[in-house]
Amino acid sequence: MSGAARRSRTNAPHVNADRLWSRHMDLARIGTIETTGNCRLALSDEDAAARELFAGWCRDAGLTLRSDRAGNMFALRPGRDPGRAVVAAGSHLDTQPHGGRFDGISGVLAALEAVEALNDAGIETEAPLAVINWTNEEGVRFAPGLLGSAWFAGRIADETLDNIVSADGARFADEATRTGWRGDMVPADLTLDSFFELHIEQGPILEDAGAQVGVVTSVQGLRWLDVAITGRDAHAGTTPLGARKDALLAAGAMLVALHRAGLAAGSDARVSVGRLAAATDGPSTIVGHADLVIDIRHPDEEVLVRLTGICAEVCRATAAEYDCAAEVSERLAIPPRLFDGDCVALVEAAASALDLNYLRLPSGALHDAANIAALTPTAMVFVPCRDGISHNVQEYTAPEDLAAGADVLLHAMLERAGCRSDGQG
Ligand SMILES: [Zn+2]
Repeated sequence: MSGAARRSRTNAPHVNADRLWSRHMDLARIGTIETTGNCRLALSDEDAAARELFAGWCRDAGLTLRSDRAGNMFALRPGRDPGRAVVAAGSHLDTQPHGGRFDGISGVLAALEAVEALNDAGIETEAPLAVINWTNEEGVRFAPGLLGSAWFAGRIADETLDNIVSADGARFADEATRTGWRGDMVPADLTLDSFFELHIEQGPILEDAGAQVGVVTSVQGLRWLDVAITGRDAHAGTTPLGARKDALLAAGAMLVALHRAGLAAGSDARVSVGRLAAATDGPSTIVGHADLVIDIRHPDEEVLVRLTGICAEVCRATAAEYDCAAEVSERLAIPPRLFDGDCVALVEAAASALDLNYLRLPSGALHDAANIAALTPTAMVFVPCRDGISHNVQEYTAPEDLAAGADVLLHAMLERAGCRSDGQG
């Protein structure tokens, strides 16, 4: 049976694909760069304009808007039972400086679209619903990233949040006030039943598999290793090749050895070096010292720990081969976050009931959902993006894939929030 045939036989509500797409395009007109890209850094004038547009849509949909100290926006829809905890969904409206039209935005708009679809179908849920825009997910203007959700989850103190200063010299609290979104809501005001985040995959796995939806089981863990390689500065003309302690050469060999160690750890492993600095920069000087940072990721903590140890050992052994020394220290360790089994099952059941081709997979990137998962049962829905490209003005997700993902979000939320089966509210 085709998806269309199955849909026509049920009274299940569906999102409006055209409205969802046109809202993406309307938001993309704010802070446009290079025709198809966006630059709307958190709490900038562009972000403020995007928030205003989104807020107008929420009000038109009959939602009540509130905000908190971090400028997180909450658009609330009452349930039949006001005593029940809130079923929430959302993501972020801020973008990378050279970002696209979908990263984060799709999750906020899909959550709003889910509520609009319920409005259109005249369905009232038992539990209240919330559509959320988390502030400063990208961490470009204010550091760290995932800021709004981290504060909401109690991982950042009020004072610390207020006094974070942006790269352009603005204080976080002042910018939240200036844009009009520093509100008085506190996390305790919102008792969450669950949180769902739709996001573009930002990788090629769904597209390669021909899947329209990703059922996200976890957010992988992350470790950073600082590696300091020490050799000896020397003259490129007078020092025989066999008598050198070339730290840059050792670093080059390390990159290859680390890549091989990553490949050997299986398809879920990620080992990358994006930063390598030589202490000297002269064509005729053998480099005596070099520093690099290894970014290691895996969804399984046990494998992540083991792989981190292997990477450190690879660095020491490779340095020794080139008569250098490597000092390895761990700078950052974020454990993997497993999503809630019941919420993941709801997402999977929705994808299955909608007859969509879906895949279960871990998230390669960090998301606000990883912070909120510490507070309440959480799950994520991925939609494919063309060639897996993200953080790029070419980022693109097809309207039909956005609608399919939003339908999954809608049905997972509806199942969780509960409603009368006659659809009459
Ligand atoms: Zn994002």
